[in-house]
Amino acid sequence: MTATTFAAGVALRRAADLIHTDGLHTGDQFINRTTGAVDVAAAIYLMAEGGIPDAFYNDEVTSLAIIGASAPTMTAIRILSDSLPTPPSYTEIADGHEVPDYIEHVSNWATTTPVFGERPPTTSEVIGALLRAAQTADSRERRFGCTDANGFCLTCHGHGSLTTGTKEIPFEDLSLRRQQGYAAGHRFHRDITAPCPYCDGQDRATAAAEQAAESAA
Ligand SMILES: [Zn+2]
Repeated sequence: MTATTFAAGVALRRAADLIHTDGLHTGDQFINRTTGAVDVAAAIYLMAEGGIPDAFYNDEVTSLAIIGASAPTMTAIRILSDSLPTPPSYTEIADGHEVPDYIEHVSNWATTTPVFGERPPTTSEVIGALLRAAQTADSRERRFGCTDANGFCLTCHGHGSLTTGTKEIPFEDLSLRRQQGYAAGHRFHRDITAPCPYCDGQDRATAAAEQAAESAA
């Protein structure tokens, strides 16, 4: 068993405990500054990583970046996402290349009324889903050489995408402030992402990755 297996199952179970004691936050931001109630994705991050980023109280964009950059958190969130009755929405990260948005999926599921429902899930239902996902995390088997114990790609951690370098941002895409900087000789770059060559981002290893794993075994 790898550390990842342990972390995902334990993080999901402890997130359920945290929501039980501190409450489920369903409003703006990831933690309610007044009550201390936590969003479901934030609860998983707190248990997987420890420590409370200030951004969770007041900066949703930064919070999403912090959560998305944590591999153990994303492994656990993805297992929860997979266990929900609805599919995740997709975000385009490069021309013609979309990836599932797992953080948005679990947070939205826990806080909004489903299309054919009359109310959002209760706190007990959210805790129940976390505990079922924890069981799934505990029971998943290693699949191929390119995946971890949860079946997620070791290269991209199941996001299906990689940051491969940087590209200069065209002048016309720059903000006014940056266009002034451009005139002064500054150049600006953005990270560019590419599809992961070892998986399709949906728990299916590519044929080349499977062959490499088999020949290495
Ligand atoms: Zn991958």
